[in-house]
Amino acid sequence: MSQVHVLRIENLRANVGQKEILRGIDLELKSGEVHAIMGPNGSGKSTLSHVLMGKPGYEVTGGSIHLDGTDLLSLSAWERAQAGLFLVSQYPVEVPGVSLEEALDAAFETQSRDSSNLHQDVLAEANRLGFPLELLGRSLNVDFSGGEKKRNEMVQLAVLRPRFAVLDEIDSGLDIDALRDVSKRVEEATNDDQLGVLAITHYSRLLKELRPDRVHVLVRGEIVTSGGPELASQLEKTGYAEFGVEEPVAMDGTGIFRTSQ
Ligand code: ADP
Ligand code: MG
Repeated sequence: MSQVHVLRIENLRANVGQKEILRGIDLELKSGEVHAIMGPNGSGKSTLSHVLMGKPGYEVTGGSIHLDGTDLLSLSAWERAQAGLFLVSQYPVEVPGVSLEEALDAAFETQSRDSSNLHQDVLAEANRLGFPLELLGRSLNVDFSGGEKKRNEMVQLAVLRPRFAVLDEIDSGLDIDALRDVSKRVEEATNDDQLGVLAITHYSRLLKELRPDRVHVLVRGEIVTSGGPELASQLEKTGYAEFGVEEPVAMDGTGIFRTSQ
């Protein structure tokens, strides 16, 4: 039986500038599990993903993040990747002059991994995920559409096979077919590779495809409630109004806004 890994976040607090954005986050994610983080815009979802990955510009003021026994906060971003963490960013970065395969090759090299099957693996995953093969020779994410960027990030994830993946609004910019392809591939990775997933989303539609084991609601930097998949369905009906969020919300991803009372 494969080993179970644990990503443990305890009382995590973080500032951007002088402003406290994360105000004590507790979360434990195990291999093979899918946890969803839902919340209104500006609640700190992307901040959490960046703090997990060690992106510069965020000041951690308290708490801890451990992957198995390893203290991730003491590691740089690339060391965290080496430890098995992968982020599909809400806004994937463009990397002029570097192709997808070159980027993966560099990642394999820093991890001292054998890259002899890399080319075949990239082709296989691109086919599986519907990523246009003609884009493989181009600069990473440069002039890619929103959907192409997300599929391209998914090819990287599938080839790198991290222990844990943070998917920040992977549903934004994806049409229904693309969302199904990407969600299916993530589900397969949770089953085949025991990938643990933290799926961040504003909307519940992603969670119809990617069935979460747990759903956490993040409001103003705090997890205000947690539950099973039924919590996502409930939020689809009620929005975030019961948590005192007054901004307009569109829970169904249709672009039709409902105003919360
Ligand atoms: P979400 O992803 O849930 O929409 P974010 O984590 O992006 O929320 O943002 C949370 C809050 O932190 C917002 O009020 C946002 O304006 C603020 N924030 C995030 N990043 C920065 C930054 N680099 N500089 C200043 N404020 C920021
Ligand atoms: Mg965000």
